[in-house]
Amino acid sequence: MSLSEIPIDVLKDEIAALLVEMSAHTDEPEEPGVTRLLYSASWLSAQAALAARMVEAGLEVRYDNVGNLYGRIGGTRGGEAAVLTGSHIDTVRHAGQYDGAYGIAAGIAALGYLKRTFGRPVRPLEVVSFCEEEGSRFPIAYWGSGNATGIYDWRQAGAYKDEDGVSLEEAMRAAGFGRADGPDCRLAPLAGFVELHIEQGLVLEHRNRRIGIVETIAGQRRYALAIGGAANHAGTTPMTLRQDALAGAAEMALKLESLASSWGEPLVATVGKIEASPNTPNVIPGFVEMTLDIRHSDEWSLSAFSDLVLNEIQRIADRRRLRLGVTPWLATKPVPMSERLTARVEAACAGLSLSYQRMVSGAGHDAQLLAPVCPTTMIFVPSRAGVSHSPDEYTTPEQLAEGAAVLVSVLYDLAYKE
Ligand SMILES: [Zn+2]
Repeated sequence: MSLSEIPIDVLKDEIAALLVEMSAHTDEPEEPGVTRLLYSASWLSAQAALAARMVEAGLEVRYDNVGNLYGRIGGTRGGEAAVLTGSHIDTVRHAGQYDGAYGIAAGIAALGYLKRTFGRPVRPLEVVSFCEEEGSRFPIAYWGSGNATGIYDWRQAGAYKDEDGVSLEEAMRAAGFGRADGPDCRLAPLAGFVELHIEQGLVLEHRNRRIGIVETIAGQRRYALAIGGAANHAGTTPMTLRQDALAGAAEMALKLESLASSWGEPLVATVGKIEASPNTPNVIPGFVEMTLDIRHSDEWSLSAFSDLVLNEIQRIADRRRLRLGVTPWLATKPVPMSERLTARVEAACAGLSLSYQRMVSGAGHDAQLLAPVCPTTMIFVPSRAGVSHSPDEYTTPEQLAEGAAVLVSVLYDLAYKE
């Protein structure tokens, strides 16, 4: 398939229209951006609007028992595993239009185009709007793809509460899901999953590439550090007699930055949160809490770097006579994508004459839950200035359509030709 065969203007218009339509489904219409939290009124109306668009595109529509929405074109050969594309419909608070919604809108446009042009595929083709990925309302993320892949079970929903004290189970029931006799969430075996998403980073824009092909979703380690010194009078305590927890924390943060820079890509490491106490202008800080977030595509590097950093931080604490407590609170392994599907995406980009590059996703995605159960790949399009989780998130209509053209080409390959 070449770009001249795929009606890029049609895809562009359909996706742009659907994204604008989706952005109107927000819990806080007076506030900037889109806020669409799991099982809210705007979440329900967004899923209903997508279901209507799926029907218009000629897809058979169904919900599962947690509210994941599927649109399907049956295959001509019986008993074949389906090829699935899609992403998530929920957002963070004050999000942009594109994170999640783009992969669904492009999926509907792609399936509609393929069905109109080529009829039914050999293998079934499906697009999914996963109910939840962000963890914005309840303290659990990937609720949609987690139930679809068996990592989570909807019967666990009573264990999680939102900030108003509403349980996930109550919210799910109120939205019409989580019924004892509801349709199964577990997906039948799949021939493949292809997630199209905005990059949410600067790499593609910086290197002037049109498409990113994810090879690995980075693993993460997160730690909470508690640094104890001595709170004392800022005017009467000589510099040599201080145990300043904040100065120690600052040295630790800079050490993390310099070690990460010299370790090299794709490692990234961040102190994202820091709280000093008593946090008063004329008192030497006696106690600091801060976080470390470390990500890499390779498990050995992630582990070796984390050990190195924790050793260096301990040395800084010892030299400054500070007490140090380290609590690990997140450890996820890197998730490699399917090399076979990644090569297919690469071939599609080459066929469409779109510049591309293989890359690591530093952010988590639904694809990391699908990857252990079926061949999985991810396609990225550029994000302006790398901005995401913000009303300023932006990707041009042309870039959105180019990503969709790659998706069309890959889905055609996987569902019509095999
Ligand atoms: Zn997303």
